[in-house]
Amino acid sequence: MKITAIKSHVLQYDMPEELGYSQQYYAKRSAHLVEVQTSEGITGWGECFGPGNVALANKCIVEKVIQPLVLDDDPLDRDVIWHKVYNLLRDHGQKGMPMQALSGVDIALWDIAGKLAGLPIHKLIGGAHRSSVQAYGYGMMLKRESVDEHVARFTDEAARIREQGFVATKMKTGLGARDDVRLCEAVRQGVGEDFRFMVDANHCYTTSDAFYVGRALEELDAYWFEEPVAPEDHDGYRELRAGLKVNISGGEAEFGRWGWRAILENRGLDIAQPEVCALGGISEYLKIMALCHAHFTPVINHVWGSAIAVATNLQLLAAMPPMPGGLHPWEPMLEFDTTDNRFRDELLVESLDIQEQVRRQDGHVSIPDGPGLGVEPDADFIRHYEIDL
Ligand code: CA
Repeated sequence: MKITAIKSHVLQYDMPEELGYSQQYYAKRSAHLVEVQTSEGITGWGECFGPGNVALANKCIVEKVIQPLVLDDDPLDRDVIWHKVYNLLRDHGQKGMPMQALSGVDIALWDIAGKLAGLPIHKLIGGAHRSSVQAYGYGMMLKRESVDEHVARFTDEAARIREQGFVATKMKTGLGARDDVRLCEAVRQGVGEDFRFMVDANHCYTTSDAFYVGRALEELDAYWFEEPVAPEDHDGYRELRAGLKVNISGGEAEFGRWGWRAILENRGLDIAQPEVCALGGISEYLKIMALCHAHFTPVINHVWGSAIAVATNLQLLAAMPPMPGGLHPWEPMLEFDTTDNRFRDELLVESLDIQEQVRRQDGHVSIPDGPGLGVEPDADFIRHYEIDL
């Protein structure tokens, strides 16, 4: 079997309302799918992390840089292909967009391997440790409105996400440390005392501001404090983890086993959040997963993007071993964005219908057991939303 073509599809639509996080507001939803075609007629699908114009740049890397390197290669040789591409791109980007581009290609190669074997990816990895995974719903995004308006909206939205059946919820911060504490109090009020909530700062704080917010989160009994400081600020992560009771999480902006080795050895994370569509794909994720467990750091995957990314993560969450194990083991969660996303809800021929599963199955989502990723995107849907360079 040979790889005959690699195509990128960047999808985009105007969202019903502008949303924001600590770094920017955005009004367009985008997704970047990768399609790998083979001489046997089997097609694999993958996804690259990175919105908007970043997706268009990644499309160029996938089609103009990676495709010529791997045409005619056997798609089952995914580890060989991964290292060939990585080694040739090393001088141009060991992190960032080249790795995001390689991630989508690698995921598609795993999809092909599963389809050829007639087995879901979690079987290729070594089997399912769980047949379903609990899901947390994130929302509470920033908008161009006053602090008071944020506070009222966050309280209502947090309560609504709990009512939808999710096992926990996650909010954004980024208005400034003092106002952010008000937002966190609003979310605790919205969900009540006996429900988990997490806080995602998207690395907007200095270490001292992060301590200020983190001490409030201790009082509010928040479950984790995500990306409190810049991903490069290893010292800040280590100081925060040593000084705060709340769990410190992060890692979505780290790439490859070497970057992950550094942040794990730094001891700055209570919970690791690898992003499979960015860090190098499933092949690299499995190595990083093993590194995390070698450091006894639990993993909750970062999930962003379309139904292809969600399906990829469901396969990986199924195959994640318990760590350390026990009668009532610590369990991972599926990250689920509760804001408007057609690329997740409507892309597939047969929808995963996550929200309905969460409602019906006490916050749990079943692991797809079809071949490969276990899902198929709808070609007409892709054509309708595809944009060009
Ligand atoms: Ca995040």
